[in-house]
Amino acid sequence: MRLSPARGLVLVKPVETQETFEGSSIVLLPETRNRLTLGQFEVVAVGKGAVCKDYFDCPRSDHTTDRSDVIHLPPVVAGEWVLMHFRDVMPAALDEERTYLARQEHISAVVESS
Ligand SMILES: [Zn+2]
Repeated sequence: MRLSPARGLVLVKPVETQETFEGSSIVLLPETRNRLTLGQFEVVAVGKGAVCKDYFDCPRSDHTTDRSDVIHLPPVVAGEWVLMHFRDVMPAALDEERTYLARQEHISAVVESS
């Protein structure tokens, strides 16, 4: 089953590291691997942008229109990695994967590859 996030939401899954660092034979404990990637998520799917509730007083500059609504552009696309606090995600229980739903506005940062 594949969930499709509602408007203003993203579907994410926690980033998981490999058991060893590249070129190393030291096996990392699961707790260590979790600590290394705490708060890092991979975007699985992105809902349409959230409706802007007060366009004239809104401090954001990422507006566009969808039919008659003024909306905020979704800040990410599927496959990108983001930083979010665990308190801002809710388990997507219908999914057999360990995925979570979160509001697009709760994304703290997008991880960019250098
Ligand atoms: Zn706005």
